[in-house]
Amino acid sequence: MIIFTTVATLQVYISKQKKDGKSIGFVPTMGALHTGHLSLVKMSQKHCQTTVVSIFVNPTQFNNPTDFDKYPITVEQDCLLLEKQGTDALFLPSLQEIYPNGTTLKKHFDLGNLENVLDGKYRPGHFQGVCQVVERLLEIVHPTHLFLGQKDLQQCMVLKRLTVLMPIDTQITMAPIQREANGLAMSSRNLRLNNEQLLQAAAIYEQLIFIKENIDNISLDLLKQKAADKLLEAGFNKIDYIEIVETGTLKSIGKYKPATETAILIAAFLGDVRLIDNMVL
Ligand code: AMP
Repeated sequence: MIIFTTVATLQVYISKQKKDGKSIGFVPTMGALHTGHLSLVKMSQKHCQTTVVSIFVNPTQFNNPTDFDKYPITVEQDCLLLEKQGTDALFLPSLQEIYPNGTTLKKHFDLGNLENVLDGKYRPGHFQGVCQVVERLLEIVHPTHLFLGQKDLQQCMVLKRLTVLMPIDTQITMAPIQREANGLAMSSRNLRLNNEQLLQAAAIYEQLIFIKENIDNISLDLLKQKAADKLLEAGFNKIDYIEIVETGTLKSIGKYKPATETAILIAAFLGDVRLIDNMVL
């Protein structure tokens, strides 16, 4: 695996790969890698001839400064995992390489309603920051394929929109959510949970299953209320949302229609760690 820390050297490498006719699969991450990230790398390796992974903890997408300060960083371990997985290239840029002109966002990405709901509503500015960094990364890497995780369903939709807004032709693939044995969705932020919280956190998955299994016979409002009660009982201290939406638009629905693809999304806090998860029906 070749590690690049500058845009210039990475671009020389990518140009060479493209000249050789190779497709470029790109997996952007914020590090503290786990099996979920590696599943995206594997998917890229299956579909593309060259796989580039980036690790960059983007400050502009954190609406909560404490969350940014406490974001886990495990670069040495990440390099070992990526090397073992046979990754071709790792881009490990400094803040200066990504934002040579500073971090202030000088434009507004038109994300429509995607920005007003769910994480868009509860994390103001978050998706603008995500678009800011991913636009920059896509301009640097110009991948033929981009691999994203369903774990961040709303982010996948935002980034699909970003690629429509940008003059690039990148195919997006969304990979399924990788879970721990107890159902907890793998996440870098899980590193901030203690052993007791790791057990409690599985309640999110249990409630996704509960809603899925009862969506046909209990009113959606009551289902959401019951799920919220269970999360609080399990030890969660704050719930941002439990929403049942039409997957295509992320608009909340009042009644379940089997013919319409539906998603259940949850965001809740265990202590000061915010966890998100979802299930598409
Ligand atoms: P992050 O490092 O959290 O920014 O995530 C980088 C990429 O990995 C994103 O596309 C995530 O959606 C994806 N990802 C994170 N957790 C998982 C998971 N448990 N299963 C599958 N993909 C994931």
